[in-house]
Amino acid sequence: MVEETFEKEKGVAIIGGGPGGVSCALTLKKLAQESGEDIRVVIYEGKRFGEHYNQCAGVLSHPLEEILERDFGLKIPKAMIQRTIQGYVLYGEEEEIVLEEDPTKPSLAVQRVELDRFLLNEAMKREVEVIQSRVTDVEFRPHEVVVYSWSGTCRASAVVGAFGLSKAMAACFSRRVGYAPPPHLETLVTKFYPPSSWLPQLLENMIHVFLPPFPRTEFGALIPKGDHITVILAGWNITTNEMGAFLSLPRVRKLLPPKGHSDFFKGRFPTGLAKRFHGHRYLLVGDASGLVRPFKGKGINTAIVTGKSAALTLMNHGPSQEASQHYRDMCKDLMEDMIYGRLARTLASLTRRYSSLDPIIREAKRSESLKEALFFCVSGHAPYKKILRNKANLKVLPHLIPRLLGSIHLRLH
Ligand SMILES: Cc1cc2nc3c(=O)[nH]c(=O)nc-3n(C[C@H](O)[C@H](O)[C@H](O)COP(=O)(O)OP(=O)(O)OC[C@H]3O[C@@H](n4cnc5c(N)ncnc54)[C@H](O)[C@@H]3O)c2cc1C
Repeated sequence: MVEETFEKEKGVAIIGGGPGGVSCALTLKKLAQESGEDIRVVIYEGKRFGEHYNQCAGVLSHPLEEILERDFGLKIPKAMIQRTIQGYVLYGEEEEIVLEEDPTKPSLAVQRVELDRFLLNEAMKREVEVIQSRVTDVEFRPHEVVVYSWSGTCRASAVVGAFGLSKAMAACFSRRVGYAPPPHLETLVTKFYPPSSWLPQLLENMIHVFLPPFPRTEFGALIPKGDHITVILAGWNITTNEMGAFLSLPRVRKLLPPKGHSDFFKGRFPTGLAKRFHGHRYLLVGDASGLVRPFKGKGINTAIVTGKSAALTLMNHGPSQEASQHYRDMCKDLMEDMIYGRLARTLASLTRRYSSLDPIIREAKRSESLKEALFFCVSGHAPYKKILRNKANLKVLPHLIPRLLGSIHLRLH
C-alpha cells in the first residue's frame, strides 16, 4: 500500500485566487507558522484583477468582516466600502415588505474586484507564491500531484481546487477523478448610473428583491452600489429578452433612472453539491464544491469557510482519500442545509408560478416570526433548516394556506 505522506516542502497548489483559494492559502500559512514549520503554498490565478472580473454583486454579508479579522487578522479597508446596506424590500405582485438588517450586523457593498485584489495582495505579503497563469491540467500520482499551467509545471503534495465554476477545470477534474460540477443557475447583470442627486439615498440603501412571473426566471434584484445600481436576474437559459422584460416591469422601472444601463454580463452560481469534491490528494472548495447556500448564496462567506476547512484537513490529517472525509465532516452543516434550501427554492418557485407572494407578505405584516423567516430567506443570515422548522412559522399555516389557495384559484380562472 502506498503511504500518503504530506510533504510540507512540496506543499499545496491552489487553483484559483478568489476568496476560497486565498482563505485556504492564508490558513495553511497560519497553521504552519503556529507549529513552527514552513509550508510551500502556491496559488494559480488566471485573471489579472482590474482587467478581468469575477462576476459578483459585491455584497459582503455579516459576519464576513468578523471572519476576516478573527481568522486572518485582516481589516477591510474603509475606502473599499461603498455603501452600508440597511435591509431588503421584497416584492409580490402588489404588496411589498421592508425587511431591515440588524444595524449592528450590516451588509457592505464593495467592488468585488477590489476585494479580490486586496485578498490576493495579503496572501503575497504572507509569502504565498502567486502565479499569474491558467492551470491547464492536473495529474494525480501516488506520492504527488502534478499541476500543469501556461507558465510551467508544479509538483505538490496536494491540490486545492478553488476554481469556481470554470468549465475547463471541471472537465479536467471530471476526467481525472470523476468530479461532476454542481448544478447551477445562470445570471445576467447590468448596471444603471443614476444622476448624482440620487446617490446619497440610492434605493434607500436597500436591496430590492423580486420573483418575476416569467418562465425560466428565478429572481431579480436591484442593489445600490457606490455610483450605480447593479441589476441581477437569475434563472435558466435567461437571455437579454428576459432582462428586458424584467426592466420593463412598472415596479422595477420606478426604481431605476429612465435610461442608460451598461452592457450585460453573464455569470453562474451553484445551487447544489458537486460530485466527488474530495479524494486522494485533492479537495475542492467554494463554488467548485457546490458547498454554498442554495437560492440566496452568501457565496463569498462560504468560499472562505470551506477554504479554511480544506487547509485544516490537510494540515491535521494529510492528503489521503480517508483524510479527505474529515473535510466532508467539517462541511456537514452546509450539506445538511441543502435539502432544506432546495425545499425553500421549490416553494418559492411554486408560489411564483401558481400563486403570488402577496398572501405571504400580507401575513408577514401581521406575524413577526413569518417576517423574520422572510428576512432570513433573503439575507441568508440563518440556515434554511432553522427557518423551515421554526414552530412559530408552522402556526401561521392555517391562516396562510387558504389565502394561497385563494390566490391560486384567482390565477387559474
Ligand atoms: C451575478 C452574481 C452575483 C453574486 N453576488 C454575490 C454577492 O453579492 N455576495 C456574495 O457573497 N456572493 C455573491 N455571488 C457568489 C460569489 O461570487 C461566489 O460564491 C464566490 O466568488 C465563490 O468564490 P470561489 O473562490 O469559490 O470562486 P471564484 O470567486 O469564482 O474564484 C475562482 C477563481 O479561480 C480562477 N480560475 C478558474 N480557473 C482557473 C484556472 N484554470 N487557472 C487559474 N485560475 C483559475 C478564476 O479566475 C477565479 O478568480 C455572486 C455570484 C454571481 C454569479
